[in-house]
Amino acid sequence: MQGRDRSLRWIVLSVAVACAPALAGTPEHIDPVIKKMMTDVSRERLESDVRTLVGFGTRQTESATDHPTRGIGAARRWIQAEFEKIAATTGGRMTVSLDSYTDAPPSRRITKPVEIVNVVATLKGAQPESADRIYVVSGHYDSICSDPTDSECDAPGANDDASGVAAVLEAARVLSTHEFDATIVFAAVAAEEQGLYGSKHLAEGYKSRGANIAGMLTNDIVGNSLSQLGVRDDKHVRVFSEGVPEIETPDQARMRLATGSENDAPARQLARFVDECCAKYVDGFDVELMFRRDRLMRGGDHTSFSRAGFPAVRLTEINEDYRHQHQNVREEDGVRYGDFPEFVDFDYLSNVTRTNVAALASLAKAPARPTNVQIVLDKLAPTTTIAWEKNTESDLAGYELVWRATSAPTWQGFEPVGQTHHVTVDRSKDNYFFGVRAIDRDGFRSVVTFAQPHRK
Ligand SMILES: [Zn+2]
Repeated sequence: MQGRDRSLRWIVLSVAVACAPALAGTPEHIDPVIKKMMTDVSRERLESDVRTLVGFGTRQTESATDHPTRGIGAARRWIQAEFEKIAATTGGRMTVSLDSYTDAPPSRRITKPVEIVNVVATLKGAQPESADRIYVVSGHYDSICSDPTDSECDAPGANDDASGVAAVLEAARVLSTHEFDATIVFAAVAAEEQGLYGSKHLAEGYKSRGANIAGMLTNDIVGNSLSQLGVRDDKHVRVFSEGVPEIETPDQARMRLATGSENDAPARQLARFVDECCAKYVDGFDVELMFRRDRLMRGGDHTSFSRAGFPAVRLTEINEDYRHQHQNVREEDGVRYGDFPEFVDFDYLSNVTRTNVAALASLAKAPARPTNVQIVLDKLAPTTTIAWEKNTESDLAGYELVWRATSAPTWQGFEPVGQTHHVTVDRSKDNYFFGVRAIDRDGFRSVVTFAQPHRK
């Protein structure tokens, strides 16, 4: 009887969610405080920050560190001062630090010993059982011109990646006025263009300290809405995520082949979460999920975090214009080359920033994603039994089971299951993918943990 009731409920939910495709896998829970944050994001401050960063002339990794107004040293001192201004208003909840090293191995793009410095602001979580759960958001503040080793050329880097750094600074301003359960780290990272040196150091540092980096978003090239072919799209941002973990073990590879879970790495669940947050909070703006870890054959600062074993995704504009990336400032056949602020769409950058704010606030207010979510395989059965470990948060309200067809890109339906830690449903594990997420008493939902089989 109970089983039949449940099947009926599945059907009712399936019909109801079909009406709202953007949120099909999530109930409509709009938090008024996060909604208000959307109007706190300032286009004017974003533009001012991008122009200030461009004003340092070049932020190339080997450029001047001692000049007061030109070069990477002046740029990072300004970023540090901006973070410190924000931190000063938080009553000690936000702290600012430099994560630096000088012994980067020489390479094609690092020609001399150089100090690589990440500027990091940490907004400490307020819930004791969640404060050590960390979400990182980054942009890279270094820039380059056509020759990556040229430290003298002008390299304005307005879109690549002053836009990302400005988004991080503005997210810090908006989010720091609120309190969250988990910790949020705002990072302006260095030497991305030389080979991800800054983010690698940051990610490996977290890994060596055993830090719980529950999610990482990098913002890189997030300010231009006009493609090189003249097509404007100011309504979408791409979110790239790996479907198979970079650090997959041979055992995990065998399980992936046996279950068809090549679309379900933790980073992909994070990307789906960002997509849902954007749909809920950012009016007239959408995430375009990209089912690859980066653009074709490319990488970014999220790659450093993926390699350290953390779920990480990349936000990038939908259409790029390569005449304004990594180019010497010049005019050729009537075309202006160079990465200038006039090619940045600051309304577009505002919406990308809102997407970050909505996602980070939702992540840091929500419980941790459930652990050890397992499909129990004790016998062949037409039902599916899923078990998981209990969360530790004091304000936990329960869990939701989510599911989707094997060919569906995003979660299609959900079922509240209460304060249990196992459930059996009348759906075939052969025909559906399942996941579980935790919910707190305020209705905040965690990222989904994908359910994998466990053999007894
Ligand atoms: Zn970049």
